[in-house]
Amino acid sequence: MKILLLGKNGQVGQALQRTLAPLGELVALDRSQGSDGLCGDLSQPECLAATIRQLRPDVIVNAAAYTAVDKAESEPEQAWRINAHAPEVLAHEAEALGAWLVHYSTDYVFNGSGTEPWQETDPTAPLNVYGQSKLEGELRVQAACTQYLIFRTSWVYAVHGSNFAKTMLKLAQERERLTVIDDQWGAPTGAELIASVTAATLQKVTAKEDAKQDANHDANLKEIAGIYHLVAAGETHWHAYASHVISQAKVLRPDMPWAVREIAAVPSSAFVTAAQRPPNSRLNTHKLQAAFGISLPDWQQGVDSLLAEILIEKHT
Ligand code: NDP
Repeated sequence: MKILLLGKNGQVGQALQRTLAPLGELVALDRSQGSDGLCGDLSQPECLAATIRQLRPDVIVNAAAYTAVDKAESEPEQAWRINAHAPEVLAHEAEALGAWLVHYSTDYVFNGSGTEPWQETDPTAPLNVYGQSKLEGELRVQAACTQYLIFRTSWVYAVHGSNFAKTMLKLAQERERLTVIDDQWGAPTGAELIASVTAATLQKVTAKEDAKQDANHDANLKEIAGIYHLVAAGETHWHAYASHVISQAKVLRPDMPWAVREIAAVPSSAFVTAAQRPPNSRLNTHKLQAAFGISLPDWQQGVDSLLAEILIEKHT
């Protein structure tokens, strides 16, 4: 199986390099054009399409995205180019090749009302440009190809890259008092979890594809293609998440110069941001668990592993 991974240097992209490599021949690209002429730049659709036609992958995994949520408000064309138009190009190419397309989307496709975890079938109504561009990407992928998996995730973190947990670790060493919002709910989700679930689902999908003796094989594949919510189990808000990160960090490394004495809970209105964010980002993952027989760990488990890796393993 030949797999083309786009966005190899992002949080999820880096984790995918590890989990996809054992599945077959992996070609991992970033936005730069290599001397071999291969191009993974999502803002250059013609070049991207030519690369796919040259490589003829069995699976395309798109971990690249325009992820600067606030900046997207002032750069909507760029956000739409990367998050909506490029996935459509990938989907057309996947369809022409009979390949699978794996694509990632976001909790920000919802408006965040209520307190119930969102199901895949719930109505979307993004509050910001980033969410609108990601939703458009979902719709275009669904319209252009049949063999696709779209994973909506939330609050992603990894050892590499910038994310909330790493920012809290830094601020806890610089400031005595932190203020963190407590009215946006969701589940912090590790890039490692997303990457390992992606690999597990691809294994199932391609195993089904190999089972040519199965008379219902085309129908099965069509049933499995779709949107899935992929987040860690449990729920929290940003203030509780920050408190967990900092208290765990202090336990793991009492010797470090922790300056923070108080983590104050504040409403979202205390911070003015260019993009509005949904208060309820809880995602219901029953569909993913039932379709692929996957169980998802509590969010604290992955966060604790991240902290151990950042604070202990990197220092030994
Ligand atoms: P990152 O921001 O860590 O990585 C995004 C990657 O996309 C970067 O490597 C970036 O490259 C690359 N990229 C941006 N523009 C282009 C381009 N024109 N051509 C090629 N590559 C490009 O994102 P995550 O790994 O966190 O996100 C993975 C997926 O999950 C995305 O689809 C995102 O929308 C989704 N998601 C993320 C959430 C989060 O909290 N981060 C929450 C919900 C969903 P470069 O390094 O060169 O800039």
